[in-house]
Formats: sequence, C-alpha cells, structure tokens
Amino acid sequence: MSQKVLIVEDEANIAQLLQLYLEKEGYETAIASDGAKGLELFHSFAPNLVLLDIMLPVMDGWTVCQKMRKLGNTPIIMLTAKGETRDKVTGLEMGADDYIVKPFEMKEVLARIHAVLRRTGPQEPDARRLSFDKLVINLDSYELLVDGHKVDTPPKELELLYHLAATPNRVYTRNQLLDEVWGFDYFGDSRTVDVHIKRLREKLEGISNQWTLKTVWGVGYKFELNTEG
Ligand code: CA
Repeated sequence: MSQKVLIVEDEANIAQLLQLYLEKEGYETAIASDGAKGLELFHSFAPNLVLLDIMLPVMDGWTVCQKMRKLGNTPIIMLTAKGETRDKVTGLEMGADDYIVKPFEMKEVLARIHAVLRRTGPQEPDARRLSFDKLVINLDSYELLVDGHKVDTPPKELELLYHLAATPNRVYTRNQLLDEVWGFDYFGDSRTVDVHIKRLREKLEGISNQWTLKTVWGVGYKFELNTEG
C-alpha cells in the first residue's frame, strides 16, 4: 500500500509541484490550502506524513502542528521561510519531526521524507517504543510523552508501564510484575507495584478514554485498550 502525504500549503504552485513529484515517487497525496482544511484532511485522509507550511490562512502552521501532535505521532515536516532559524526551533518544540527551508529542491524534500518515514515508520519488532492515543512510551530514550508533553518518570515506573502496555489487556499479578520488571533478585514486596501504579495513574489519569491502567481486583493489573468506538 502506498504511503500517504498530506501537503498543507496555501501557495498553489508549491503545493502542486510537491504533489507532482510525490505522486511520481509513488506517494498518495492530498492538498489543503489552509490550516483548518489541513486538520480536516488529517482526520479524513489519515496521512503517513504531513508537509506543513507555517504561514497559512485561517490557522497557522504552529497551531496546526500542535493540534496534530495531540492526535498522534504522524511525522510532520515543517516548510519554513529562508533564514528563519527561530521557525526551526519553534517547529521542533511544537513537535515537528524535521523542517525544510524554502526555496527547496525536490530532491531534498524527497530525501527528508524518506528519512523521516524510515525513522518513524513501521516499527521493527525489537523497537522499544509503544504508542497509543496521547501516549508514547519509549524505552530507548526512557521518555514518557503524555498528550505531547514529556513527563518525568523514574525508570522503574516507565518499565512497568511499558511491560503492561506491550501486551494490552493481559492481566499480570503483582508477583509476575515484580519478577519481570524488577527481576528475581529484587527483595521488595508486592506493595512496590501498587505504589508505582499509583504514581503512574497520577500522570495518566483522564488523558485518554482509549486506554486505562486498570486494577483487576484480587489478581493484579492490566493496560486495557478500549476497542469500542
Ligand atoms: Ca504560506
């Protein structure tokens, strides 16, 4: 299946040029000529990657970028005006994956798209990164992203959450979690697990209705995915 690229750009010439080249490379594309349409297409077109201009009518690229970030991890490449280094920094802070300075060469755009898709694309089986609605658990960088924001999390908490979320809906007993997360040589008791779960809940409470850190009374815990809706 071909990868889908959403082009959010109000300058028709640039948008069409991008479209032409990307389709020639086998990408499926859609063009949005303002920020609000960009967000609409983000939902309906469900792109694998977004090329996002900054100066846009209705809603600027920063705002669009932030809103898209709240909806998931779809890679975003910002198209910035020449020499605006402040734009690059802001763009990366807003959660953009990369930026391309205008005027650009199509070869460069294609190379950036390939690179970003390779970096963020279909995860290898051993990639230690899990993502759900408004939640990214990265065990390579030991980072927890909640609703697009990095949340300081002690290593064991992160490992515990990762362990549960790696097999959604599977129930683990406290002892299993102690064994598998803390290791057999750990001498703590099962309350350790409860304390860590409690702290995780404080960070994750009310963030999404797509998943929950759930207590299974008399058994243990699970990371429950809500599959309805
Ligand atoms: Ca523009």
